[in-house]
Amino acid sequence: MDVSRLLDQLNDKQRDAVAAPPSDMLVLAGAGSGKTRVLVHRIAWLMEVENIAPFSILAVTFTNKAAREMRGRVESLMGTSLQTMWMGTFHGLAHRLLRYHYQEARLPESFQILDSDDQYRLVRRVIKSMNLDEKHWQPKQVQWYINGNKDEGLRPQHIETYGDPTKQKMREIYQVYQDTCDRAGLVDFAELLLRAHELWLNHPQILKHYQRRFRTILVDEFQDTNNIQYAWLRLLCCEDNNMMIVGDDDQSIYGWRGANVENISHFLKDFPSAKTIRLEQNYRSTGNILKAANAVIDNNQGRLGKNLWTEDAEGEVISLYAGFNELDEARFIVARIKDWIDKGYALSDCAILYRNNAQSRVIEEALLQEQVSYRIYGGLRFFERQEIKDALSYLRMLNQPLDDAAFERVVNTPSRGIGEKTLANIRDAARATEQSLWQATLLMLKEKRLSGRAANALQAFVDLVLGMQEAILPLPLDQQADEAIKQSGLYAMYKAEKGEKAQQRIENLEELVSACKQFEVPEDADDMTPLAAFLAHASLEAGEAQADQHQDAVQMMTIHSAKGLEFPFVVLAGVEEGMFPSQMSNEEPGRLEEERRLCYVGMTRAMEKLYITYAESRRLYGQDKYHTASRFIKEIPSDCIEEVRIRNTVSRPMYNRFEKAAQKSSHVAFESTGFNLGERVAHPKFGEGTVLNFEGSGDHARVQVNFDDFGSKWLVLAYARLSKA
Ligand code: ATP
Ligand code: MG
Repeated sequence: MDVSRLLDQLNDKQRDAVAAPPSDMLVLAGAGSGKTRVLVHRIAWLMEVENIAPFSILAVTFTNKAAREMRGRVESLMGTSLQTMWMGTFHGLAHRLLRYHYQEARLPESFQILDSDDQYRLVRRVIKSMNLDEKHWQPKQVQWYINGNKDEGLRPQHIETYGDPTKQKMREIYQVYQDTCDRAGLVDFAELLLRAHELWLNHPQILKHYQRRFRTILVDEFQDTNNIQYAWLRLLCCEDNNMMIVGDDDQSIYGWRGANVENISHFLKDFPSAKTIRLEQNYRSTGNILKAANAVIDNNQGRLGKNLWTEDAEGEVISLYAGFNELDEARFIVARIKDWIDKGYALSDCAILYRNNAQSRVIEEALLQEQVSYRIYGGLRFFERQEIKDALSYLRMLNQPLDDAAFERVVNTPSRGIGEKTLANIRDAARATEQSLWQATLLMLKEKRLSGRAANALQAFVDLVLGMQEAILPLPLDQQADEAIKQSGLYAMYKAEKGEKAQQRIENLEELVSACKQFEVPEDADDMTPLAAFLAHASLEAGEAQADQHQDAVQMMTIHSAKGLEFPFVVLAGVEEGMFPSQMSNEEPGRLEEERRLCYVGMTRAMEKLYITYAESRRLYGQDKYHTASRFIKEIPSDCIEEVRIRNTVSRPMYNRFEKAAQKSSHVAFESTGFNLGERVAHPKFGEGTVLNFEGSGDHARVQVNFDDFGSKWLVLAYARLSKA
C-alpha cells in the first residue's frame, strides 16, 4: 500500500498527527499552520491505513462551504466519492439526526426549520399574544434569551428565577414560544442542537448505535464550539471510539454567541490520555503579514501561547490607507483591486473583509461603478428576501400546513381581506385548544364562529391551500415552485407593483424557480420528498452564498464568515476606533480581546498582500462620525506597515445620484479654494484638521473641516483664514 501521497506534503509534526495510531488528539495551532489540512489527510489515512469505513467517520466543520471543500479534498486524495461519510456543520448534522429519529425526538415527520428572521417574527407574535408591551419585552432580547438558554441546554423548567418577576416572565415567554413551535412542528437553529442532544440523552439505545457506528470523530475550528455542541460530542464519545479536535484559541470569535473557548481545556480534562500536537510553521502568509498578526494578538492576555514562523520571504509590507470618508476608502479599495487584476490575478483571488454587513453597501456601489463583479457571502441573502420568503412560505404550507410561521406570513399576502382582528381570534383559539393556526382556522370555520365576511375570506384561503396541494404536489419541484408563485397570487401582486424594486422581485422569484430546477436532492436526504429537501436546504444550507458560484468575482464578507479561508489579496476595511473594535466592545469585559482575535483572523486570511483601510469620517445612520485609526493598527510594528499617501479628490456628492447639482457647485468651490479634499489645513483658533467637503461657490463657498481637537465644522471660506498645514 502506497501511503506516501498522504504524508509527502506534510511537515514532521503534521505527519505525527496524521499517522498517529487511533487515539484522542488535540491539534492546537495558529492560523495557516495546516490544521485543516491535517484533518483532511487524517481522514484519508484512517480509511486507507486503519481500514475505517467512510460510514464510520463523523467530521464537523463550521460552515457548509468548509464542509463541501473538505469533502472535495478528501475525495481527491482518495480518488473516490464518499457520500456515506457524515461531514457537515453541527446544525446540518443535528438536522440529519432528527430527520432519522423524528418520532423519538417527538417531532412531526415534516418538521420545518425556522431561520432567525422567522424566529424573530414568531417571538414577536408570542409577546403580543401574551398582551405584553414590546417596548418592555423587546423581541430581539427575548430571542437572544431563548437561544442563549438553549445553547446552554436549558429548557424553561431548568431555569432558576429566584422569584424575580422579570425572570419569571421571560421564562414564561420562552415556554409559550416553545409550545407554539411544538404545535406547529417548527424547529429553530438552537433547538436543532438541543433536540439532538436530548435525543441521545433520552434514548440510550440510539446513542449506543451512533457510538458504535462512529469510530472516529473529527472537529475543525473547535475553539468556537458552544456548550451544547460540546455536550453533544461528549456523549458520542466512549471507550470504542476517538475524537480528534483541531483549533486555535486565538481565533475564538463567537464568544458573543455562546461559544466557549474553554472547551479546549474541558476536552483535555475529559480525555486525559489525549495527545496534544502543536504546529508552528505557517504556510499561508508572507513574513510581514505573519509578523504583524503575531504582534497584534500578542496584546491579549491568557493565551495558550504559540509562536508562528514562516519560511516564506518577508514579502510586501502591509499598506495602510486612511480615506477621508468611506466613499474615498471604497474608491481606493476598488482602484487597488483593479491594479491587482492588471497584474494577472483573478477577481476571486481578492477578498474584501469588514466587521459588519452594513459596511458592504458603499463598497458595492464603488465596485458597481467600476463594473467589477463581486459576490457577497452573508448579508441579506437570497433566501432571506421578502418575496422569496413569501414564496417559500406557500411551499411550506403545501408541504405541511401546520407550520404557523408560514401561515402567518401568507394568510393575508396577497391581501384577501383577512383582518388583524380575525387573526387575533384564530391565535386565541389556537392557544386555547393547543393546536396550530391552520387547525384552529378549520375548527372555527366548521363551528361557524366567525362573522360572514371574515369566514368567507378565510374559507377562500383554506380552499386556495387545499386546491394548490392537490394541483401542485404531484408536479416536479421547479413546477411546484412556479405554480405556487402564480396560483397564490404572489406573481400578480408583485407584477402590479411599479418600479425597479418590484421588477427585481419578479426576477428573484424567477430565480427561485431556476434554483429549484438545479436542485439535486442530496443522497443523505433519505426518504424526504424533493420539496421537503429543498425547504430544509433553503433554511439551513443555502444562506451562505448569494451569487452564482462559478462566476469569477471579488469575494466580500464579514471577517466572521472568512474563518478558515485564504486569499492572495485581502483588504481589511473600516479598521477604525468605534467600528473595529466596535463601540460595544469597550463596555463589556472580554469583548475587546475578542475583537482583537477577530482582527487576527482577518489579517491571517491574506497570503501575499494585505491592505488595511479606514475612513476618517463615515456617514452612519444618517450622521457623520469622526473616527481615528484603530488601536489594532497601532499595534502593528512600524517596519511591517506603510501608509499610502495618495488622496483621491472626490467628495461625497459625486457618488450620490440625487446630488448631481451639488456636485457641480462643490467642484467650482473645490477648484477656486486652493484646497484639496483630504488635505491637512490649519486654522488660527481651531488648530489643525482635515478638509472633508465643499459647498457653494464664490463668496458663499463653505468648507467642512474635521479639526483634530474641535471636531467637524463648516466654515465660510472667505472669512476662515485657513492655511495649508
Ligand atoms: P486556519 O487557522 O486559518 O483555519 P489552518 O491551520 O487550518 O488555518 P490550512 O488552511 O490547513 O491552515 O493551511 C494553510 C495553507 O497552508 C493552505 O494553503 C495549505 O494547503 C498550506 N499548507 C499546510 N501545510 C502545508 C505543508 N506542509 N506544505 C505546504 N503547504 C501547506
Ligand atoms: Mg482551518
